[in-house]
Amino acid sequence: MTVNRERLAQLATENAWYKGRYRNPERTPKHGLADFVRWQLSPGERLPPGHEFPWHKPDAGLLNRPPAHPQLTWLGHSTFLFQWDGLNLLTDPVLSERASPFSFAGPRRFTPAPLTVEELPRIDRVLISHNHYDHLDDSTVKALHQRFGDSVCFCVPKGLKDWFAKRGISNVVELGWWQSHSFAGDDEVFFVPAQHFSGRGPRDTNKTLWGAWLLERSGHRLFFGGDTGYGSVFKTIGELFAPVDLALLPIGAYEPRWFMAPVHVGPEEAVRIHLDIGALQSVGMHWGTFVLTDEPMDEPPRLLAAELARRSLNPEAFLTLGHGETRLFNAPDQPPADS
Ligand code: ZN
Ligand code: ZN
Repeated sequence: MTVNRERLAQLATENAWYKGRYRNPERTPKHGLADFVRWQLSPGERLPPGHEFPWHKPDAGLLNRPPAHPQLTWLGHSTFLFQWDGLNLLTDPVLSERASPFSFAGPRRFTPAPLTVEELPRIDRVLISHNHYDHLDDSTVKALHQRFGDSVCFCVPKGLKDWFAKRGISNVVELGWWQSHSFAGDDEVFFVPAQHFSGRGPRDTNKTLWGAWLLERSGHRLFFGGDTGYGSVFKTIGELFAPVDLALLPIGAYEPRWFMAPVHVGPEEAVRIHLDIGALQSVGMHWGTFVLTDEPMDEPPRLLAAELARRSLNPEAFLTLGHGETRLFNAPDQPPADS
């Protein structure tokens, strides 16, 4: 598989930095405080009650024996453990009780994290999509660094290196859109755009970049979509990287649409992204863990199944995992996995 390096280099020259902040590839409606208040005061149910989903403890033996196939374990929200070809990787690790600056307030998880940092297998690499509390968690990052030291590499969007440096973490790869970093062997990460925003408080909005990651390792391509609204950029990503063997795509936090659509896709648009990037297999994320928006917590997988049926797509081509569930997938040129 080859990537069109010339096109990539040309795309990387487009500047996302504008007047001291990053901005999206396409102009999108901006919803400020007034719109937030309008959402909160609008009729109908706000932030539905939490729902605890069944969960199970992942099999430690399975996680500690390197699998011969790409292996994926869902740890809730956008946190996955991906294991392939000797590499153990986490996406947006959030294993805390709350996605918030406070331990006593803010969105809490209704289903326990299936693993603590202590229970994880050795972690080699972490992909961070953007600086929001439900994706970049201070205490989980600190615990990972405390346990694994500088043997774990954090791949982060432009502008976030300082956040890690302040916590004594120096093994950081910081990339802008369309940039890549090669590790030893057949192993490269690419950072690509998503349509979203960033910030932890009122003063740092869009001061650091957001996006999605593409990991190409030993002939297998993993796409980690982060948070995003739908935009034409996914067709461009598909032109450069299709076929993608395994895509992790957001399917939750989409209601009300008038407020959320610019920054969060719903299941229908997630299926469009799945098709645009040429994903052979997708797994839904960003649902079923925290209550961030107005849709019922168990709605995203139902709408996803309905959309796949409406488009006559294989229901197994875009699935969701249970909390703590582990699944094996196929790599190119491998016989099918048995589970
Ligand atoms: Zn976000
Ligand atoms: Zn999010």
